[in-house]
Amino acid sequence: METSKVLKEKLFMKRQHGVFRMSEAELAECDNFCENYKDFMDIAKIEREAVNYTVELLKNNGYVEYKSGMPLNAGDKIYRNNRGKAVVMAIIGTAPIEEGVRLCAAHIDSPRLDLKQNPLYEDSETALFKTHYYGGLKKYQWTAIPLALHGVVIKADGTTVEVNVGEDENDPVFCVTDLLPHLANDQMAKPLAKGITGEQLNLLIGSRPFRDDEASEAVKLNIMNILFEKYGITEADFISSELEAVPAFKAKDVGFDRSMIGAYGHDDKVCAYTALMATVDCNNPEHTVVTVLTDKEETGSDGNTGLCSAYLKYFIADIAETLGSDCRTVLSASECLSADVNAAFDPTFPEVNERNNCAYINRGVCITKYTGARGKSGTSDASAEFTGRIRRLMDSHNVIWQTGELGKVDAGGGGTVAAYIANLNVDTIDMGVPVLSMHAPFEVVSKIDTYMAYKAFSVFIND
Ligand code: MN
Ligand code: MN
Repeated sequence: METSKVLKEKLFMKRQHGVFRMSEAELAECDNFCENYKDFMDIAKIEREAVNYTVELLKNNGYVEYKSGMPLNAGDKIYRNNRGKAVVMAIIGTAPIEEGVRLCAAHIDSPRLDLKQNPLYEDSETALFKTHYYGGLKKYQWTAIPLALHGVVIKADGTTVEVNVGEDENDPVFCVTDLLPHLANDQMAKPLAKGITGEQLNLLIGSRPFRDDEASEAVKLNIMNILFEKYGITEADFISSELEAVPAFKAKDVGFDRSMIGAYGHDDKVCAYTALMATVDCNNPEHTVVTVLTDKEETGSDGNTGLCSAYLKYFIADIAETLGSDCRTVLSASECLSADVNAAFDPTFPEVNERNNCAYINRGVCITKYTGARGKSGTSDASAEFTGRIRRLMDSHNVIWQTGELGKVDAGGGGTVAAYIANLNVDTIDMGVPVLSMHAPFEVVSKIDTYMAYKAFSVFIND
């Protein structure tokens, strides 16, 4: 007769804090890896900056910009920059391309406040920018915090001005003001979703007038004059700009034990960075590796830099044809990790999760078989067979992983790029890091989970 202890060991699934399954050496490697991740988070707050960082890193690691028709051989490293806002890279494998590619897909856009096309106005001797929020955010969270402005302006003559204000210690920052509690009786009685409206997300950018008693809108004029002197831009140039207000704070360790990282934009740069590092650290893979860092996930993946666009398919088609095959054959034999974050169980809000089927911080990278809402609507739902293959792969390489779905049934829901890749007839499953306070200006992840995402993507692309 086996004892219950032995039987449990044999029959029950292990749900354990990752630290109990890592050596001191691996934990040190994990913490070290996360130092570099924090640096990345401070440099790459918006998609364009993430692309610049990535392209630079790829070039330094022997990747060359790929042009259709270029000859390709095993071991070659290539990338394609899609309009400065998305990037796709590949390492040609030794196996025939007909055997498919190993695809990792993460997104580098995060929720934020975008400036409207005619943003600048003056009211009561203050200058403000009108914004239109990007992605799903809780508006009240974006008031009364320091914000930085990142992006580009295309001037009337076609030249590009890059803007990055609020990150340097000596830079000014901006903010959205909120009502003082003393006068907020009406506001506080409203439902949370209505306490701050989209049209109240106005960015405070100035308050000192241009010195001329005759001038009207003198504060606006003074701001425009400062912008003209610094960037050479006029008001009409905002029409052809993409300026994004993002939290001005830096990535920081969270907790006395420094076990977690707080930062803006973990969703989904924590998966983008780990997938990128796994790719850069990969040499001479058997199967061709393709890693895509995409834009526009937070607004539904439409547009030519989002994954509903054909740019990924065209890139794979170019590789397939150059190597004597075709796109449909290669895609049909391919496998994909849709590398995106999931919600972590939050002990302060236990009611939105079902404890047996949600992700917990520190239990490793999270595998999510299906996403969606209202009866899994909108999900691609990985097959049991593919889920089983990924499970075996992770276990055989000591990757600490867990499974988790996004919240209780009918509590809400959401999706990732998984469905768009699966729709190309690719075996696809979601895998990523559990996040606390997802989509908030300051999101939290665990260092162990971050490192395990890197390890999981490495194992997958080197298999
Ligand atoms: Mn995401
Ligand atoms: Mn998101």
